[in-house]
Amino acid sequence: MVKNPGVKASKMKILFASAELFPFSKSGGLADMASALPRAFRKRGQEVTAVTPLYSSIDIAKYDIRKSGVSFRLRIGAKIYEVELSHCKYEGLDVLFVYTPILCDREYLYGPPGGSYPDNDLRFAIFCHALVELLRRENYDLCHLNDWHTALAALLAKEAGVQSRIVYTIHNLAYQGIFPPSSLQRCGIDARHFTPEEMEFYGQVNWMKAGIGFADAVTTVSPSYAREILTPEFGCGLDGYLRRHSAKLRGILNGIESALYDPKTDPALPVHFGVDNFAGKAQCKALLCQDFNLEDSARPLVVFIGRFVAQKGLEWIVEALDALAALPANFIFLGEGEERYHAALEAAALRCGNLRCFFGYDEALSHRLYSGADLLLMPSRFEPCGLNQMIAMRYGTLPVVHAVGGLRDTVHPIGSRVCGEGFPFEDGNACGLIAAVENALVFSADPKKLEAVRRFDMGCDFSIDRCAGEYLHLYRELLSGSLSTKGEL
Ligand code: ADP
Repeated sequence: MVKNPGVKASKMKILFASAELFPFSKSGGLADMASALPRAFRKRGQEVTAVTPLYSSIDIAKYDIRKSGVSFRLRIGAKIYEVELSHCKYEGLDVLFVYTPILCDREYLYGPPGGSYPDNDLRFAIFCHALVELLRRENYDLCHLNDWHTALAALLAKEAGVQSRIVYTIHNLAYQGIFPPSSLQRCGIDARHFTPEEMEFYGQVNWMKAGIGFADAVTTVSPSYAREILTPEFGCGLDGYLRRHSAKLRGILNGIESALYDPKTDPALPVHFGVDNFAGKAQCKALLCQDFNLEDSARPLVVFIGRFVAQKGLEWIVEALDALAALPANFIFLGEGEERYHAALEAAALRCGNLRCFFGYDEALSHRLYSGADLLLMPSRFEPCGLNQMIAMRYGTLPVVHAVGGLRDTVHPIGSRVCGEGFPFEDGNACGLIAAVENALVFSADPKKLEAVRRFDMGCDFSIDRCAGEYLHLYRELLSGSLSTKGEL
């Protein structure tokens, strides 16, 4: 480890790599974090470049993305791939785009809904080799890699003798990038890495293992999730491997962009509001009920926003739908995902007059739901961090959450006076969910108590700026060689 005691005060040169980056591409919370965190670093005086693929869905004209004039050829396996770089400034942040046809010229980021492209290994291998090329060409102090799509770059960088320190963040351990052994050669991975200590995983190649094994520090997006993934229940088969590397594992709670989610200024809202004036929130709710043709807008409005997948508790939701709809409340579900959940929700919406669904991805609608709702439903089976609950609290919407991972770290029982307050439940099943919603509805019936909790939650600091401070602290520890190897979990 290169020790550099002068690093504490000096500016760091950081390359921040991610397969998605808001507003250019987004499938979930990774895109939000990959956009907000580097911008927060920049505001704190760091020299940072974000790097991401130039997918064909990105509006080049809108963001003034221009070719940088740099291109290079990569030899990966037996083939040569031409890579071209483009660049733009997004809110002051330097964003570098990697273009190569196989990676970028696709209708979807990773594959059609519910599926993935069969050559995702090669697509993201090219991206990872391109990242290492960038690290070789410029002297970055540190490279921050995110999720399985960039994990291979940790191994390739070490193999290439790159000096930059490598931080690898696990946003979701459930997606590990697992491919057959035949993919080693075409992805340019030396077969000597196909061992249980490195990338081999039950006879397959596992990219996540390369990130965990070869990075100088591994982080995940909440302290509770960092502890959970060391157990067989949440470790997705990697708990043993993570335990072996736990000395360099940290849990750093994600944050949200306060300016983007501000009920006083949010352009997506029909009426604005703040802690001193909740009239606007009531109007937002009334307008939503009107648009969704929901009667009795005085009833509490409960919303769900997110991917319709098992992780988000859809199994429990589907089982609980009729019991929930029998409660004195209105419900709106926004999201997209697996067909069976679409079908169950659609059928419930036909049966129940107080339940509506909107299938699709709609950023503006999500903001209107956060603002107009009384309660946000988030019964995730597991949740690395979760952004929805933090966003909801910014809009005075109380979260009803399964107490796991980041949800446990951000939503505490009413009266605990710990940021924030809502309705966490321990029993991970449909009954636990129904009981928690019932409990939340009883509480919400008292407008004075409800308003007090809303005020409290809206004043909590879930900002990305706090999160950025913690990452910079970790970077400095790494660069000065003072990262404690005892682990802090
Ligand atoms: P994930 O596991 O999907 O990354 P997070 O809670 O970390 O979940 O982040 C989800 C982000 O995506 C939030 O900003 C949420 O508002 C947004 N989101 C999810 N689904 C939708 C949708 N259908 N329409 C609009 N926004 C959505």
